[in-house]
Amino acid sequence: MSRRYRKLATSKDLTHLMTRYYATRKVVGKVRPLAWVTSGAPVEILIGMGVATVYPENYGALVGAQRAAVPLAQVAEEQGYSPDLCSYARCHVGSVLDPRNAPQGGLPKPDLLVACNNICGTVIKWYQALAQELNVPLFLLDAPYQHEPGLPHHAVQYVASQLEELIAWVTRHTGRHLNEKKFAQTLKLSNEAVTLWREIRELCQARPSPLNAPDLFLTMAPIVVLRGTRDAVTFYRKLKTEVEERVARGEGSIFEERYRLLWDNIAIWYQLFRLFSLFIDAGACFVVDTYTNAWSVSVDTDDPILGLARTYAMVYINQSLQARAELMTDLVERFSVDGMVFHSNRSCKPYSLGQYELLEQVSQRTGVPGLILEADMCDTRLYAEEPIKNRIQAFLDLLEAR
Ligand code: SF4
Repeated sequence: MSRRYRKLATSKDLTHLMTRYYATRKVVGKVRPLAWVTSGAPVEILIGMGVATVYPENYGALVGAQRAAVPLAQVAEEQGYSPDLCSYARCHVGSVLDPRNAPQGGLPKPDLLVACNNICGTVIKWYQALAQELNVPLFLLDAPYQHEPGLPHHAVQYVASQLEELIAWVTRHTGRHLNEKKFAQTLKLSNEAVTLWREIRELCQARPSPLNAPDLFLTMAPIVVLRGTRDAVTFYRKLKTEVEERVARGEGSIFEERYRLLWDNIAIWYQLFRLFSLFIDAGACFVVDTYTNAWSVSVDTDDPILGLARTYAMVYINQSLQARAELMTDLVERFSVDGMVFHSNRSCKPYSLGQYELLEQVSQRTGVPGLILEADMCDTRLYAEEPIKNRIQAFLDLLEAR
């Protein structure tokens, strides 16, 4: 990693927290019942019913960061899963089929599977395959794609009615009931963590920005996997204090911030520091991104089920290109962005389709140029180092010339 980079002191807390998270879930019997869930699943209900959760997508990111994805993906590919499928899905299925060769021996076996298609259609087939392989019950939550800005009432009602079904389904399979007090407490903690995360990200409007994209990508883990717990709140309180102190001292995440950039799509996990070093060395800091932004929407607790339905139906990639262009334009303007970098992620079609159109629309509205990099979040076979370096250099030259 570039020496022009300031490491967060809170990253030690993050390592402890995530190690503990995985270690406690590995102890069979200690955390039961256990559900495997997608990143956009309404975990607040599961926690409120005493069901522990783990996230195969987070496991995929971990495997990707450890550069352990390809052998696992190949296990799945040998069983007929197409190499064109999402690499989180292939790695995770590979870890299920061959746990002895998977980092940490794979995830602890689940009692339940809960998938919500608010992020993509892939999760439906991925979880159906898991249900078949493991003989575990599966709940599919359907969140209709939002073609128009604004969420229609009938869509909220439709998702809310499925959340009621989810509660009944969990009771049927585990004997657990929704504990209203625990549910209310979970929602409170979830909103508290989400608010802290939003405030931390907003602090990056400061010049220089106290955080860079690698900081955001690493510190997002608790908002994904520990949403609704006190641990997440404790972690983000500490992180916010560190970030505020940086802002007060006028300290940036990188030593000489010359350009402020926006990142679109999931990180390239196996290149996290190496890739961003190319930007850091040129004084370019990613002050905002659309991916970690996705976990910054609170739940309206006046009617918690309706509130959850609204929040989970409105996740970023469940919305039209027009809505995404508006959100991105807002981020570019509020964070004083000089350039946008789009990761065209071979794995994630719903995130990557339409990026050329997005680039054009947002550039037209803001006058800010953009670069598209083709790669994959986990599969190192899809990363062409020299062409990517050349494209980044040309983009940095363009920023310099402006
Ligand atoms: S296709 Fe995209 S949204 Fe779906 S699981 Fe893979 S990375 Fe996540």
